[in-house]
Amino acid sequence: MKAVRFHEFGGPEVLKYEDVPDPQPRKDQVLVRVKACALNHLDLWVRKGLPGVKLPHINGSDIAGDIAEVGEYITGLTKGDRVLLAPMVYCGHCEFCVHGEQNMCRQFTVLGNGVDGGNCEFIAVPQINVIPIPSELTYDEAASVPLVFLTAWHMLVTLCQTKPGDMVLVLGGGSGVGSAAIQIAKLMGARVIATAGDENKLDQSRELGADYTINHYQQKISDEVKKITAKVGVDIVFEHVGQATFEESVRSLKPGGKLVTCGATTGSDAKVDLRVLFAKQLKFLGSYMGTMGELHAVLKHVFSGKLKPVVDKTFPLREARAAHKRLEKSQQFGKVVLNP
Ligand SMILES: [Zn+2]
Repeated sequence: MKAVRFHEFGGPEVLKYEDVPDPQPRKDQVLVRVKACALNHLDLWVRKGLPGVKLPHINGSDIAGDIAEVGEYITGLTKGDRVLLAPMVYCGHCEFCVHGEQNMCRQFTVLGNGVDGGNCEFIAVPQINVIPIPSELTYDEAASVPLVFLTAWHMLVTLCQTKPGDMVLVLGGGSGVGSAAIQIAKLMGARVIATAGDENKLDQSRELGADYTINHYQQKISDEVKKITAKVGVDIVFEHVGQATFEESVRSLKPGGKLVTCGATTGSDAKVDLRVLFAKQLKFLGSYMGTMGELHAVLKHVFSGKLKPVVDKTFPLREARAAHKRLEKSQQFGKVVLNP
């Protein structure tokens, strides 16, 4: 089959469109023909080099396609079914997994990170990862859902327990995870302030439901938050930008407010004034992906049309380098998708 692989870590130029051996599914696995695979910042980090990534490597965590082959031990799935794949990989028998907290498992990873992913034509996975999708959802839309909606759900619903009336500041509303966060915060009845880097992304953030927007290049985030909240500050800050915005994010919180973060796109060397942390009684929460149960919970809202996947642009798989560059330059609004 064709795949995009890299044999060394580096820039987009290391990505090679080439022939690789077809996967050989086990009797307890499902073989899926990949129709769409969405990019995440994780793909860029993996390409640049993360510990535990074996070379050559195939990227790609967010996968949608058709079932091509069903293993002998599998029941309930049929060849031809349209599906998306839960990206989580875990042991399934440790104390965390049996509690349903797969993202705490010591062996936890995602497709395309610790194991090969979906930047290819076929992938073999266990049945538990295979989730049928409704006919209204396109493959590109389905592939745009798992990682970002699961992550944003775990952060806002499970960890922050967002409730009606809360004011939520979403950093980078134009990113995949930001566009999911705006919609989930609104679904929970919160009011949303979204930041973005250009007018187009600010407009699109408002279309997704943001009540207020801030241009994070031209305006000082905490000053604008003060104006919008009559000096009170926000209940929740949804962070993933990291170093470039972290101090402004902390400054935007009201006393007792929660900051939840799932990433550090601009760098991880953030400063925190501990006096502010204890005197304002802030809560800092770290988040990594989510659980299988949470994925099914958020998918119900996607399948019913309440939460909408945001597809930015699609590229043929062989143009993976151009797709990586688009994400690297933050040119996208929503998800960049590859089509094998
Ligand atoms: Zn486990």
